[in-house]
Amino acid sequence: MRAILSAIIAATLAVALAWWVSGLSGSIEATIAGVTIHTSTPVAVVGLALLVLAIYLTVRLLIWIVNIPLNFGRWRARRRRIAGDAAVTRTLVALAANDAQASRIEAARARRFLGETAQTLLHCAEAARLVGNETEAAALYERLCQREDGRFLGLRGLFRQAIAREDWSEAQRLATDAEALRPGGLWLREERAQLAVRLGNWTQALALAGPETPRNALVVAAAEAEPDSARALRLAKRVYVENPGFAPAAIAYAVRLRAAGRDNRAQETLREAWSRAPHPDIATLYLKPFTEPRVRVREGVQLAQANLRNMESQFLMACLTFEAGLLLEAHKYADDALALGLDQKRLWRLLSKITKAELGDTDHNAAAQADIDRHSALAGPDPVWLCEACGVVQPGWSAACLNCHVAGRMVWGSAQRPRLLAAS
Ligand SMILES: [Zn+2]
Repeated sequence: MRAILSAIIAATLAVALAWWVSGLSGSIEATIAGVTIHTSTPVAVVGLALLVLAIYLTVRLLIWIVNIPLNFGRWRARRRRIAGDAAVTRTLVALAANDAQASRIEAARARRFLGETAQTLLHCAEAARLVGNETEAAALYERLCQREDGRFLGLRGLFRQAIAREDWSEAQRLATDAEALRPGGLWLREERAQLAVRLGNWTQALALAGPETPRNALVVAAAEAEPDSARALRLAKRVYVENPGFAPAAIAYAVRLRAAGRDNRAQETLREAWSRAPHPDIATLYLKPFTEPRVRVREGVQLAQANLRNMESQFLMACLTFEAGLLLEAHKYADDALALGLDQKRLWRLLSKITKAELGDTDHNAAAQADIDRHSALAGPDPVWLCEACGVVQPGWSAACLNCHVAGRMVWGSAQRPRLLAAS
C-alpha cells in the first residue's frame, strides 16, 4: 500500500515538474568553444538534466570498472566461505558418524577454504585421531595451544591423548594448565575422574564422580587420605552415619576416632557396625590393640555379643578360643557357625586344626581329617573383596580396583559355590 502511495506521489510530482518546466517562458543562449546554442528554456532545462544524468552514469561506470578486481576478490572470498562452512558441517557429520576417511577429507577441505582457524585445526586433529594418527593429532593440538583462541582446545586434546596412553604425570600437568584457563569446569569429567583415581586424589575424584559412580567408597577414601584430621573425622563420620552397614565406612571412622584419642568411641562404633553387618575386617580392627590370646577372647566376646546369633560372631569366637587353646569352646563355636550356615572352606580349615589339636596324631584324627577334607571339598569358597567391574579378587578393600582401576565397585562376596558332586 505504501509502495502504491509512493508511486502515485512520485508520478504526480513528475507530471507537476514537467508541466512547470513546459510552462517556463523565455529562451537561453549559450556560446561554448565558439558554438552558439539558442533554445527555449524548457528544452534547455531538459537538456541540462540529461547532461547531468549522463555524467552520473559515466562516473558510476568508471567506479565499477575500477572496482572489478576488488569485487572479484570479495566474490571469491564469499564463495570460499560458503564452501568452507559446508565442509565444516560435513566434517561434523563424519566425526559424529565415526567415518574416519570422510572426516579427514572434509576437515582438510574446510582448512583449505577457511584457512588455519581454531575450528579447522581442531577438526583436523579429531579426524587424525579417528584414523589412528596420534602423532599428527598431537602436532595439531600443539598448534592449537599456540593460539590465544585455541589454547584450551589444544590442552584438552593433548590431555585426552595422555589419558589414553596412561601417561598420568603428563595428563596431570595438562589438566592443571587447562584448569587454569577454565577453572571449575566439568570438561572431560570422566577422564579427569579417572586421572584423579589413578593419582589417589580422592577429593577431586569425588567432585568429578558421575551418577554412575558409587560415592560411598570415594568418601571413605577421601577421609582416609585427608591430611586435616578434623576434616577427615567429619568426612568419615558422615559416610558412616549415611552407611552404617558399610564396613569400610565404619573402619575409616573408627580409625579416625582412635587417631583423635577417642578409643572407647571407636570400639563402640565397631560394635554398632558389627551389630548391623558383621565383617572380619571390623573384628580385625576391633582386636588390634590386644595381643594376649585370653584378652582377645574376652574382647571378642564383647564384639560378638553385639550380634550373637550371627555366623560371623560364632566363627570369630571359634578362631579366638582356638588361639587361646580353649579347644572345647572352639569346637562348639565352630559347630554353631556351621549350624548357622557358615559352610565355607575357612570353617573347615579351622575345624581341621581344632580336631588335630584335640586328637593328635592318632587314627581317630586321620579318620576325622578325611571326613573334614570331604566336607571342605564341597564347601563354598571363602568370601573375599571382589571387583564387580572386572571380577578380580583384591587383597583388601580399596576405593578403586587394583586391576582395572574402576572406583567404587568393590564388593564383599565369593565366587559361585562349587557344584555338589557327592552327598556329604
Ligand atoms: Zn576391577
